[in-house]
Amino acid sequence: MVKAVVGANWGDEGKGKITDMLSKEADIIVRFQGGANAGHTIVNDYGKFALHTLPSGVFYNHTTSIIGNGVALNIPVLFKEIKGIVEQGVPMPKILVSDRAQIVMPYHVLLDEYEEERLAGKSFGSTKSGIAPFYSDKYAKIGFQVAELFDETVLKDKLERVIVQKNILLEHLYHKPLLKVEELFTTLMEYREMVEPYVCDVSAFLYEAIKEGKNILLEGQLGSLKDPDHGIYPMVTSSSTLAAYGAIGAGIPPYEIKKIVTVVKAYSSAVGAGAFVSEIFGEEADELRRRGGDGGEYGATTGRPRRMGWFDCVASKYGCRIQGTTDVAFTVLDVLGYLDEIPVCVGYEIDGEITTEFPTTGKLEKAKPVLKTLPGWKSDIRGITKYEELPGNCRKYIEFIEEQIGFPITMVSNGPGRNDIIYR
Ligand code: GDP
Repeated sequence: MVKAVVGANWGDEGKGKITDMLSKEADIIVRFQGGANAGHTIVNDYGKFALHTLPSGVFYNHTTSIIGNGVALNIPVLFKEIKGIVEQGVPMPKILVSDRAQIVMPYHVLLDEYEEERLAGKSFGSTKSGIAPFYSDKYAKIGFQVAELFDETVLKDKLERVIVQKNILLEHLYHKPLLKVEELFTTLMEYREMVEPYVCDVSAFLYEAIKEGKNILLEGQLGSLKDPDHGIYPMVTSSSTLAAYGAIGAGIPPYEIKKIVTVVKAYSSAVGAGAFVSEIFGEEADELRRRGGDGGEYGATTGRPRRMGWFDCVASKYGCRIQGTTDVAFTVLDVLGYLDEIPVCVGYEIDGEITTEFPTTGKLEKAKPVLKTLPGWKSDIRGITKYEELPGNCRKYIEFIEEQIGFPITMVSNGPGRNDIIYR
């Protein structure tokens, strides 16, 4: 059976924790999109880890971790990450990398930096991991697949052609040092050595695994609102964040995805620029940021403070719908225990009209939040394992949100650890 774990919002919903938890029952965990630009934070018996490229299942002995063809593969980052977890005492995981995954080239990272510098105040708030230049090249058909590392003559020839174009940009748009084919070729040969032990025909592997009835988890990065088609364009990421894309980015039939677990956080946070209707500021935001997640709401990759907001029913309903949600995992609820009252955004007012449908970007920018205030529960809910044992107001918060978003909350996460979970 194939399950996907995806986010409903801007990312950082706690997908890493839910994937790590569900990995217990899984044989294979696949990353199918995105790159090393975002990260998952995972707390388990080995310690605390920030993963950027490896799937969150790498901590179990029985699982195979896969980098699918849809991922923006940064080979040295992957290599460093594997080394890092092994050094922290995790047994060497079984890892497979799709021979069709494309490689984040050193110039993708440079171009990302230079473009942010050029745009200055008007930038998108990129993490400068090379993701946008990478996917642009993929679709412009000048990207490099892992398999291409193994034919040196063809590789060098293609590098020469591609670099002509990059150097024109570097010279005339960015006024930066030019690329040299020989240097890049040497780097790619180092990449080849790093990745060679893991290279695999992933879709063929997964085809057999599905036939054998294996449990497969597809792990998404970021969330619905960062999807290039359905998200807040252009404040989006460059690959699809939707479960549907899991079929493409892993190379499996779409009808094999039977469960879509959408992770929804009990309040909102966002990184980067763009409309954020339920955003809060000042001391109110600082306090939530400080108490949020596990040790504060700061970017796993960049350390940047995240923008904070109340729970947004409009965005989350849409985010769940566009994912094709079968189950909602409602996370980080324990953090809200300090509040006397908890505002929730239940609608958007746009040009004097109230709606609960998530609009396109232009209208979104004009939206003002319609807030409803729910009573807080003023207690620490960590350690509770049964739904009935949660405080009444806490259950009311969950049930109110479930009704607003229209998808069943079947899991409630009340702490960062693997066992901090309440099934309903
Ligand atoms: P992801 O990218 O969606 O995996 O999100 P993050 O890695 O940013 O995860 C959010 C943070 O919240 C991490 O530091 C997790 O350890 C933490 N976390 C996950 N679930 C819970 C929870 O239920 N309660 C608390 N307090 N922290 C959680």
